Amino acid sequence: MENTQTSAPPAPSSAPAAAPYPRAQATEAVHAGRDDLAALGVHAVPLDLSTTYPAPDTRAEAARIDEFASGGARPDGPPVYARLDNPTVARFEDALARLEGTESAVAFASGMAALTATLLVRAAEGLRHVVAVRPLYGCSDHLLESGLLGTEVTWTDPAGVEAAIRPDTGLVMVESPANPTLAEVDLAALARSCGSVPLLADNTFATPVLQRPHESGARLVLHSATKYLGGHGDVLGGIVACDEEFACRLRQVRFATGGVLHPLAGYLLLRGLSTLPVRVRAQSRTAAELAGRLGADPRIARVHYPRLGGAMVAFEVEGDPHAVTAGVRLITPAVSLGSVDTLIQHPASISHRIVAEGDRHSAGISEKLLRMSVGLEDVEDLWQDLDRALGVSPKPTGRTREPVQRELHPTAAP
Ligand SMILES: *Cc1c(COP(=O)(O)O)cnc(C)c1O
Repeated sequence: MENTQTSAPPAPSSAPAAAPYPRAQATEAVHAGRDDLAALGVHAVPLDLSTTYPAPDTRAEAARIDEFASGGARPDGPPVYARLDNPTVARFEDALARLEGTESAVAFASGMAALTATLLVRAAEGLRHVVAVRPLYGCSDHLLESGLLGTEVTWTDPAGVEAAIRPDTGLVMVESPANPTLAEVDLAALARSCGSVPLLADNTFATPVLQRPHESGARLVLHSATKYLGGHGDVLGGIVACDEEFACRLRQVRFATGGVLHPLAGYLLLRGLSTLPVRVRAQSRTAAELAGRLGADPRIARVHYPRLGGAMVAFEVEGDPHAVTAGVRLITPAVSLGSVDTLIQHPASISHRIVAEGDRHSAGISEKLLRMSVGLEDVEDLWQDLDRALGVSPKPTGRTREPVQRELHPTAAP
């Protein structure tokens, strides 16, 4: 029912708008979350920055607050208060749910806020134990390992997940391809070994363009939306795509703890989704080409590039990795990833600094490893920059050099 008391744009319905017929992902990317725009008489998505909404009908307002507190789908009428609901953010949630093929999605201020809310949902049910597969993004590893939220973690490889599950296990967590080694896990097999425990797959690196973990049995699909979904390095956000039942509990936690996504971030992320398939495919083509050239280069000891493809390349250098990050000119030496421009960073110093050295090494994150997020630049310009930054081959040390590792598809790190 349209609210006539305020000038706020009518909120889209909370359920992803039913498409008239099945639409291809490229079509969803530019239309999902925007199906009502023509009826509103606008073409661009309305950006609603209100923190509060006029509510002369206090009884109706009370009923809406009860509904928000229960975490249910968006009630009719104005959102009451911006921590409870925002129509622009809801559009981004609807669109991402459609791209991931889930019933719902719940957005947060960052990827870490999204993971925090997920852990809190389970902890509130007394399920504080998490089974996790390394490597994970450095701060995700830290959040679990530090026990900051009262969680206890058992680290294992995919084959050990089933045995590691206990009666109080609330979550199994995995990244595939993983940050930063790009190790891949068979998600369908892993989901089967989780039994009734929800599998959370961090799909930040693959995006729904290359992989839809829900179809493989992952109940929860997490994104640092800061990366590919935004795609331009100018917005921080996180989102969990899941079934409506889990989404309800995530909304309850978000309502109570306040890690909400700003409406402007929701607007930018929805805009980012419209070019996601085109960006990811183009960036992946360039990344595959660079991975091939690096794999054939004697200055490179090992290249990691997923079977799945993607725009991330990791490689171990023979020489000094710090000289490479200091030597690039076109490529930006910076943490983060998924932007339209190319970034390179040294995980042991930056993205995974917070993980203990021994844990980093056993997860396959060597001191020689560099992680590159390939953008939309021309492949020859990128190669020229990398080639110069890699410099001359390190002086022969007398030892016979091991053959160049041309294996582009290392198996999952232990
Ligand atoms: C960056 C990242 C996160 C954390 O997301 P933020 O938006 O920085 O909070 C989680 N998982 C992966 C794989 C990431 O790369």
